[in-house]
Amino acid sequence: MSKLEIKDLKVTVETEDGPKDILKGVTLTINSNETHAIMGPNGSGKSTLAYSIAGHPKYTITGGEVLLDGENLLDMSVDERAKAGLFLAMQYPVEVPGVSVANFLRTAKTAIDGEAPKLRTWIKDVNGALEKMNLDPAFSQRSVNEGFSGGEKKRSEIAQLDLLDPKVAVLDEIDSGLDIDALKVVSDGINRFAERDDKGVLLITHYTRILRYVKPDYIHVFVNGRVAETGGSELGEELEANGYDRFLKASV
Ligand code: ADP
Ligand code: MG
Ligand code: MG
Repeated sequence: MSKLEIKDLKVTVETEDGPKDILKGVTLTINSNETHAIMGPNGSGKSTLAYSIAGHPKYTITGGEVLLDGENLLDMSVDERAKAGLFLAMQYPVEVPGVSVANFLRTAKTAIDGEAPKLRTWIKDVNGALEKMNLDPAFSQRSVNEGFSGGEKKRSEIAQLDLLDPKVAVLDEIDSGLDIDALKVVSDGINRFAERDDKGVLLITHYTRILRYVKPDYIHVFVNGRVAETGGSELGEELEANGYDRFLKASV
């Protein structure tokens, strides 16, 4: 069993007009074998939450904690966070020119496990993970995210999730820019991961459409840097019908 605990997290970002408060006290616990969705309008701070958990230097933590199995992730380097069992898929995955998908994955896997994966089985595993995401084996020779279509970026993130096998996956807008076929493939990949033993998933999204394929145990409505309300599938249905208006009005 594992547990990601976000406790009263407060974060500012540096802007031209000085530091701006973005996260205003976020509290959320994701136990293993749970899938949580954070749904919120643009600008509500969802990506800030993902970046803060990831350790992006642009974001300053001004209060609170993020614990993975009791260990403070905020004290760790980005590598240490991955080693502790955290996986993050960013809304805008970065390009790494000159580094192939295959080498990138092998380096990441080696860093996380503390030893290099056995070459023969590893190549088989990589090709299998790509194939499940409808990506050709030749894809592994391309530079990470360079010239990838929106769908290829998101599908390769899920292949990476499959191979790195973290404890907790935080997926920021993994559904954005996907056509319906890619959305289905990506959702199936998330579901396969979530069905493994002791995995936690935090799915951050703006749109309700992915909820047709990935069924979260909890939905959190996120507005103005805070969780405004937590519920089940009924909350997704309400958002689908009425949008974020009710929550935005209440947050002012
Ligand atoms: P979301 O992912 O929910 O759309 P973000 O976390 O991207 O929201 O942004 C939340 C708010 O923080 C927005 O008002 C945005 O303009 C501001 N913000 C986020 N990152 C930065 C940054 N690096 N510089 C300036 N403002 C930022
Ligand atoms: Mg599970
Ligand atoms: Mg965002």
